[in-house]
Amino acid sequence: MTQTFDVIIVGAGMVGAALANGLGRSGMTVALLDRETPAEFDPDAEPDLRVSALSAGSESYLERLGAWSHIRAMRLTPYRRLSVWDAAPHPFSRFVPPNLARTTFEAHALGCEHLGHIVENRVIQRALWDHAGECEGITRFTGIDIRDVVSDAQGVTIELADGRHLTGELLIGADGAQSRIRQLAGIGVTRDQYAQQAMVASVRYRGSPQDITWQAFHPSGPRAFLPLHRDGEFSWASLVWYDAPDRLAELKGLDEPDFIAALVKDFPAELPLIDSVAGRASFPLARQHAKTYSSGRAVLVGDAAHTINPLAGQGVNLGFQDAQVLQEELVKARRSGQPLATPGLLQRYENRRRPANRRMMLAMDLFYHAFSNRIPPLHLSRNMGLALANHVPFAKNQVARYAMGIDDQLPSLLRRLVDQAPRPAFLK
Ligand SMILES: Cc1cc2nc3c(=O)[nH]c(=O)nc-3n(C[C@H](O)[C@H](O)[C@H](O)COP(=O)(O)OP(=O)(O)OC[C@H]3O[C@@H](n4cnc5c(N)ncnc54)[C@H](O)[C@@H]3O)c2cc1C
Repeated sequence: MTQTFDVIIVGAGMVGAALANGLGRSGMTVALLDRETPAEFDPDAEPDLRVSALSAGSESYLERLGAWSHIRAMRLTPYRRLSVWDAAPHPFSRFVPPNLARTTFEAHALGCEHLGHIVENRVIQRALWDHAGECEGITRFTGIDIRDVVSDAQGVTIELADGRHLTGELLIGADGAQSRIRQLAGIGVTRDQYAQQAMVASVRYRGSPQDITWQAFHPSGPRAFLPLHRDGEFSWASLVWYDAPDRLAELKGLDEPDFIAALVKDFPAELPLIDSVAGRASFPLARQHAKTYSSGRAVLVGDAAHTINPLAGQGVNLGFQDAQVLQEELVKARRSGQPLATPGLLQRYENRRRPANRRMMLAMDLFYHAFSNRIPPLHLSRNMGLALANHVPFAKNQVARYAMGIDDQLPSLLRRLVDQAPRPAFLK
């Protein structure tokens, strides 16, 4: 049996499912495939280990898709303040005021009610999946593997492992960092593995949910606190600990009391008193960029196209921006009666997204290298940078508005500075 669609999306993660909703609600027929069905929401369950800091820009995108109310009906936690500081000790630490190397962003200074929300990944996925199920143009397929993909002048056909065939004009790979669609399309990547990994842990503390997310930079890697929902007289939070793989393996092997003791010893004093830990897992980190975003009838979005260091929590926010731009281009083509898989359209999508994705990769790398060391001149310059940021609130708030997705563009001077900064070969 063969079913025909305008577009086939492989991967119903956050990005693929969002794009399916956007296209389906613009009148296209969409097949949305994933190996797994996102888990049902259980309000009594402990939080998902994977959470995302969603920017205000991502919130308004999900609102426009009609999915934000589904997320809100499950759970989310707004944050109104964001604080970062350099926690590396140096010979003059005792003489320097602690607030000098710390910068804090506040929602009210940016003219907003909040800076963003921390949301569990499975909540975002489930909300988008349920919302897709309510759209007539979207057909969802799960639990079936792809056997083969064949593309020719007429269209692209996917053969599923159960023998069914799906055909469409365009195949969208939203299947994450190890994308099978990217491999089948013959698209290579540039890839660099970071020395640090990230360990995430869901922890519970007594008291109300905090309205701040913070990150302290240590030479071995940052340590971050992301607030989550209330649970009776307790609240949950997600902690992220970046460090060498050996150190994280050691920490993961500790029993709960020893793990909590390690948090008390090595996390900043801002950490509330932890009562229990629900889970821990670590993730290798890599900067990866597809050499091209499309080939023939296949096009990539989200982590299938690019992965970045998550230290500023921007990965899925970039993926949502890919989805919006690709949707705009496809809807424009459909309205003017053009085919969906033309090289010009797909190149326009890449031209609009690659520079912004590369700029964010570069910014994350600058942070990573500037903070992951004990070299005194770098230590001094990053502290001066943070101190300067505090004393030029206008520039600081402009950058924050861009990072939070409130403004579309960095201020032009900064954009020029980042674009003209010398760039290592892998980012070309
Ligand atoms: C520790 C850590 C913390 C992070 N924190 C943040 C944050 O705070 N904010 C932020 O914006 N980003 C964050 N990120 C990045 C973010 O998680 C990713 O950018 C995001 O998950 C990418 O979404 P995606 O939909 O593109 O891919 P994925 O989330 O990888 O989804 C891919 C989907 O494709 C499916 N799939 C894969 N292969 C197949 C196949 N062959 N057939 C069918 N289906 C398939 C998978 O089942 C999955 O559902 C973080 C990343 C890490 C590692």
